[in-house]
Amino acid sequence: MPFVRLTVGKLDTNCYFVFDNQNKGVIIDPGGDAQQILDAVDERQLEIEYVMLTHAHFDHMLAVDKIQSSIKADLLVPRGDVDALTDGSKSLMFMAGGARVSLKADRLLDDGDTVTVGKLSFHVINTPGHTPGSSCYLCGDLLLTGDTLFAGGFGRTDFAGGDNHAMRRSLIRLSKLKGDYTVLPGHGETTTLENERHNNPYMRLI
Ligand SMILES: [Zn+2]
Repeated sequence: MPFVRLTVGKLDTNCYFVFDNQNKGVIIDPGGDAQQILDAVDERQLEIEYVMLTHAHFDHMLAVDKIQSSIKADLLVPRGDVDALTDGSKSLMFMAGGARVSLKADRLLDDGDTVTVGKLSFHVINTPGHTPGSSCYLCGDLLLTGDTLFAGGFGRTDFAGGDNHAMRRSLIRLSKLKGDYTVLPGHGETTTLENERHNNPYMRLI
C-alpha cells in the first residue's frame, strides 16, 4: 500500500498520505507545516478526499484549516474527541505556542466504521487511553496508530481524557489483531506489529 510520511510541526508529528494506485487518498494527522503538506500533495498529484485525525490533539490538527481552504476534503474525526476540536484545554492548545484552532468535523467515526476512498478501505479501531477518541486505522497492510502505539512505546495517558487502564486494554486489542501490519505511529519510526508484539515492553507483557 503506497504511503508517504512527512514529519511536521514543533513536536515532529508524523503526517501520512495513504493513497491507491490512481493517487486517490487521504491525509492523516496534518499537525503543522501546511504549505509543506500542500506542496507534497501537488508534487505527487494526489487526489485527497478526506483529512482524518487519529485524535484531536493540536499537534495532529494544526494544519487542517489551511489544508481545507486549499483542498476540498472532508474532516473525519473519532467521535470521542469531538469536544477537543473546539476546546483548547482538551486539544492541549496551551502547548501550541500561541497558535489556535477551532474545527468542525464533517463526519464522526465510531469503532467498526469503514471509510472508503478510491480502492482503499480504512477500518476504524477505537483505542482509548491517550485520549477518549484515539483511534487506529487499518488499511491493507498498514496500521496507523496515532499516539496509541509507538515503536517501543505507547502514548502518554496523563493528559486530559487520558486513561491508563483503557490504554492497556487498547494495546491488548492491537496485539491480538490477526497477522502482521506495518505500523505507522503518530511520532517516531515506522515499525511492524509483530516486532512490537515481541520487543515493545508494554506489549510483550500482555
Ligand atoms: Zn496526542
